[in-house]
Amino acid sequence: MQSALKSGMRTLCEDVSESDTGKKFTFKGWVMHYRDHGGLIFIDLRDYSGVLQVVFDENIHNESFKTAKKLKNEYVVSISGTVRKRPDGTENAGLKTGRLELLAESAQILNACETLPFQIDEETEVNEFTRLKYRYLDLRSKRLKDNIIFRSKFTYLIREFLNNKGFFDIETPFLTKSTPEGSRDFLVPSRLSGGHFFALPQSPQLFKQILMVSGFERYYQIVRCFRDEDLRADRQPEFTQLDMEMSFVETGDVIAVAEELFSLIFHKLLGIKLDVPFKTLDYDEAMDKFGSDKPDTRFGLFLSNLTDIFANSTLNVFRDNILKGGVIKAVCLPGGASLLSRKDIDGLMAVIKDFGGKGLAWTKVAENNLLEGGVSKFITAEERTALIERLEAKSGDIIFYQADSKKTADGVLGRLRLYLAKKFNLISDDRFDFLWVVNFPLFEYSEEEKKLVSVHHPFTLPSETGLDLLEKSPLSVKSDSYDLVFNGEEIGGGSIRIHDPKLQAKIFDILSISPEDAKLKFGFLLDALSFGAPPHGGIAFGIDRVLMLLRNESSIRDVIAFPKTQKGYCPLSDAPSAVKDAQLKELGIKLREKPDKK
Ligand code: ASP
Repeated sequence: MQSALKSGMRTLCEDVSESDTGKKFTFKGWVMHYRDHGGLIFIDLRDYSGVLQVVFDENIHNESFKTAKKLKNEYVVSISGTVRKRPDGTENAGLKTGRLELLAESAQILNACETLPFQIDEETEVNEFTRLKYRYLDLRSKRLKDNIIFRSKFTYLIREFLNNKGFFDIETPFLTKSTPEGSRDFLVPSRLSGGHFFALPQSPQLFKQILMVSGFERYYQIVRCFRDEDLRADRQPEFTQLDMEMSFVETGDVIAVAEELFSLIFHKLLGIKLDVPFKTLDYDEAMDKFGSDKPDTRFGLFLSNLTDIFANSTLNVFRDNILKGGVIKAVCLPGGASLLSRKDIDGLMAVIKDFGGKGLAWTKVAENNLLEGGVSKFITAEERTALIERLEAKSGDIIFYQADSKKTADGVLGRLRLYLAKKFNLISDDRFDFLWVVNFPLFEYSEEEKKLVSVHHPFTLPSETGLDLLEKSPLSVKSDSYDLVFNGEEIGGGSIRIHDPKLQAKIFDILSISPEDAKLKFGFLLDALSFGAPPHGGIAFGIDRVLMLLRNESSIRDVIAFPKTQKGYCPLSDAPSAVKDAQLKELGIKLREKPDKK
């Protein structure tokens, strides 16, 4: 921390060190703990830097002692006194200033505090609604305060780094037209254009591309994005992205800037030296081996494809599935036989159904490369030898099989792999595994919409090798895209963009977006592309998620100063809330239903 003593600001609790003993200071802050020991009163004084113990001694400074008698938790005080060493044996190793204390000479109460709804910094479980309602109190706790200060240093570093790299920080509109990133938009009615609506941006995607057409070449913004989704632990209706775009670049250029940025962040904020370049994995390989496009590479348990081995299986579910074009895939849990009882294995069936699987075939590996239990009696000696070799299975392991379409089998085993690794502590938590997943498919088929949709977004450039296949076999076309994965969490993603308006129109066509619709929704981008758009590409990182991971938190709410609940509600300000009829009238809006009761 920057020393307040040096910068000439007010003295902060953690600015004092042993060399200050005998010197006089004035500290201002909050009463964190209060202990009355008769003629001596101790308080822990807290300001944003940390904590310092203050002693009021009835026999030395009676006036200040009288003031101390009136103090309660979270009163705001100004205390002047002399810094001294704590008596031997009373030091507190848990505090940075734990060897020191302030002997109060004068004290002034700057403000009182009501009885607290919960004790700050106490380990007792306080329900989150209450914490969010009194967020100002919650933010006084060390953990949250440290998270928010870390966040400030983190965004400062990003800005400093990107400014030095020639990036311009350019704001883009919050009141805009909806961009099709795949989620629901938040709409804002326009009073001046009756019956018309703005949408809050899901990301600045179109505007950052337009900035490239304008010739800015290197853009970034630490920007709020809004998506009206159903919320999960790591989702908020408004969240923050580091959004970047560069002109005249290829995938490698974007990746290089991102790696340099993360190396700097880890070095400066965590003192950790990252290995660069980060590893890169093809999307297809990620799915084959890990059953996920954001693989956690901190442990093994890789997926293996056994379809060829079971081509003539006597097990009907295996054979029928292969005949239908499906696959047989498996995961081997080393030492599984002693980790899982028969009951545990039966319990896994429900887990597998939760993951979208139909069932779970399994076998144990016994001595002499024999299989036992589960479906072992349907497996021939030849199949057995081949699969044990492929899985590198050993006596005492358990093998779990999935017979399904490749997509489902990969997905189910990918989740089972994570489940087993977490359950049996196979993930070393001192690893920092960064991984680029590249060459995503350009399109996927949406069962819900019954049409092709973009895997990233419609502005992603198809790989050059796939251009001929766009119409004939669109699902086989890859894209110039890349996601950054950190310890199994996707923390960013981007792509090289289409800069040719004709190719962009063709992609809309494949996505069954009519020229009229395309014009309506993204006409302004199409127009811009036709006026000399340079080749360009970019990426966006989820700042809240990165911070959550760096701070070892399990929810992004703990790294956001004023988050919303999982129902998208702000207990502090009671938003969203009903509005006056007059306000609606001005907007020409009539509610079809009465507002929900809260
Ligand atoms: N706009 C994209 C997103 O928000 C990221 C990008 O392609 O740059 O996910």
